[in-house]
Amino acid sequence: QVGVLAIVGRPNVGKSTLVNRILGRRVAVVEDTPGVTRDRVSYDAEWAGTNFKIVDTGGWETGVEGIDSAVASQAEIAVHLADAVVLVVDGQVGLTASDERIVTMLRASGKPIVLAVNKIDGGDSEYLAAEFWKLGMGEPYSISAMHGRGIGELLDVAMDTL
Ligand code: GDP
Ligand code: MG
Repeated sequence: QVGVLAIVGRPNVGKSTLVNRILGRRVAVVEDTPGVTRDRVSYDAEWAGTNFKIVDTGGWETGVEGIDSAVASQAEIAVHLADAVVLVVDGQVGLTASDERIVTMLRASGKPIVLAVNKIDGGDSEYLAAEFWKLGMGEPYSISAMHGRGIGELLDVAMDTL
């Protein structure tokens, strides 16, 4: 039985880009338009000899009616079915109220959570990750899904929770 890792976070933070980076190929759909991934999509992945399933989810926009709430519930189902969660936030945008609402729901799930601060594309923007300590989710791991920065360390930590 392989572990299941769910990738969650607001729309447009780079979840699908991260999934593609982990898979080493472009399978998950990346779009400049927020909210393109409407469903849960599961892929077989491997890191450092460990096989696992990675689940890409639509943006988790909370407290919104209509299609966004449908997307949110897909993310909730993904978390429910997962063994561990990577919460992705956007280091360039900074901490938002939506991030905080997502954290509240993730805490209630009781699942292990690893916090990834994406879009830290270079060492000169490393300082942007520190703000996310405020979420109380432990160490914010700064990554650039686009450039492949910090992914190995993030996966090492995530694998330990599976
Ligand atoms: P999702 O909605 O969370 O799945 O986000 P996507 O993976 O579709 O990415 C949304 C946008 O952010 C796209 O324009 C990506 O190219 C961009 N993006 C993703 N990761 C990074 C990153 O590490 N750095 C930068 N600068 N942009 C990124
Ligand atoms: Mg996506």
